[in-house]
Amino acid sequence: MNMTRTLLCYSLSLATLMVGALLLPSAADAQTASKPKLRMYLFDNGQINGLDPAEFNFKKEEIKSSDFIVVSELIVHPTKGILLWESGSVPDAKLPADGSAYHEGVTTVTKSLASQMQAIGYNYQDVKYFAMSHLHSDHSGNANALVHAKWIVQKADRDMMFAGKQQRVMDASLFSGLKNADTILLNNEDYDVFGDGSVRIISAPGHTPGHQVLLVNLASGPVLLAGDLYHLPEEITTGRTPTFEFDPATSAVSRARIQDLLKKTGAKLWIGHDKATHAALNFAPKFYE
Ligand SMILES: [Zn+2]
Repeated sequence: MNMTRTLLCYSLSLATLMVGALLLPSAADAQTASKPKLRMYLFDNGQINGLDPAEFNFKKEEIKSSDFIVVSELIVHPTKGILLWESGSVPDAKLPADGSAYHEGVTTVTKSLASQMQAIGYNYQDVKYFAMSHLHSDHSGNANALVHAKWIVQKADRDMMFAGKQQRVMDASLFSGLKNADTILLNNEDYDVFGDGSVRIISAPGHTPGHQVLLVNLASGPVLLAGDLYHLPEEITTGRTPTFEFDPATSAVSRARIQDLLKKTGAKLWIGHDKATHAALNFAPKFYE
């Protein structure tokens, strides 16, 4: 009898322990909850104001504004390194030391890219991967500061960059150091930057021969960094391209492919130069996860 009671008590205690164990979060749960996520910071690399709408094949009254913003993004993978997408329009060294704004033609820059990175704890040397949407000067301002990184580029853009021929909106002095960079050369193809599908370069030629965009699969939802696939949102509905488009017919194919991708993934479209898009976004030190 005593033995039975003892056993019963033991069984009840065990059952209580087990229920308790089920109610308490396990170590694995705690780990999932605090697991670092893919993070994206947005930087302000200046303004391009007073552009002629005719350069983009629009009349003034057809568009809301032809004033542009210039941005870049730092994507921090929890375990596999950091990607810098775009590099601003003006080398940091040109900015006045007293912190005042730098003006050059239609461009105004108030903050260096390096200072914005440092404010969130990063230096250029921390960047493992570097990619630009394309070769134009308003994207390659600080490319020479990233020559230590693995450079991800489409062969068609790289060929044009080092062909020794002057191109419109291109300044070869800004990216000369990339010539000898450790390079991941793509042949009009997509590329999984970290190998886990979290960040994908998508080939989208037309604006330049090797233009590309970036799909960032954040936990909060995917974002497509469109580079100069479009400049003005009005290009989406009208199908127009700028006067300096490398190959408008190819751009139309790329735009259709990306629109299809947006539908399939539900990704948000961030047009690189669109002020209205970026007016609603959070810049570093705030971030997206
Ligand atoms: Zn641009």
